[in-house]
Amino acid sequence: MGIKIVPRYGQTLKEKLYLPAIVGGMKVTFSHFFENLKDTSKIETLCYPEQLPKDITPRYRGVHRLTKREDDTVKCVACFMCATACPAECIFIEAIEREDGVDEKMPKKFSIDLLECVFCGACVEACPCDAIRMDTGIFSFVKKKREDFVVNIDTLLSHKPMKGSN
Ligand code: SF4
Ligand code: SF4
Repeated sequence: MGIKIVPRYGQTLKEKLYLPAIVGGMKVTFSHFFENLKDTSKIETLCYPEQLPKDITPRYRGVHRLTKREDDTVKCVACFMCATACPAECIFIEAIEREDGVDEKMPKKFSIDLLECVFCGACVEACPCDAIRMDTGIFSFVKKKREDFVVNIDTLLSHKPMKGSN
């Protein structure tokens, strides 16, 4: 079997100086800099929060919401599928028996710790009855305390779908 000898990099004076590589890199950086200076409309950076992104679509995974049935009651049947599928283990559910005969169970407590959540959407995929969605378009949330990032069932039920989602 033939042996391929690969020359060791960094032996010549040109390679030891690193200068040609630095100049090459700076050439690319400055070409983009002057290009953007000539036409600022091409710059992708937004002056957030004064400027808000316009490309949030209904498919964007925002903060969750719990959906309701036609009779305005919670759709969730407290099956724990979402909590089981959640890789961050940030969904907390406490189930109670449903007494209106619509279903067997419903959540008494349902909360999501948004600081733990990685917004993967696994909970939405796992739900067998479309009771949890991430189509609110809410991408920014500022709170003062860590505990405030744990959204409870009332907040999740109050979230509305963003315009254009179904
Ligand atoms: S989006 Fe992912 S990490 Fe967040 S609650 Fe759902 S399953 Fe868990
Ligand atoms: S949101 Fe869906 S998956 Fe999660 S407990 Fe309720 S019904 Fe089950």
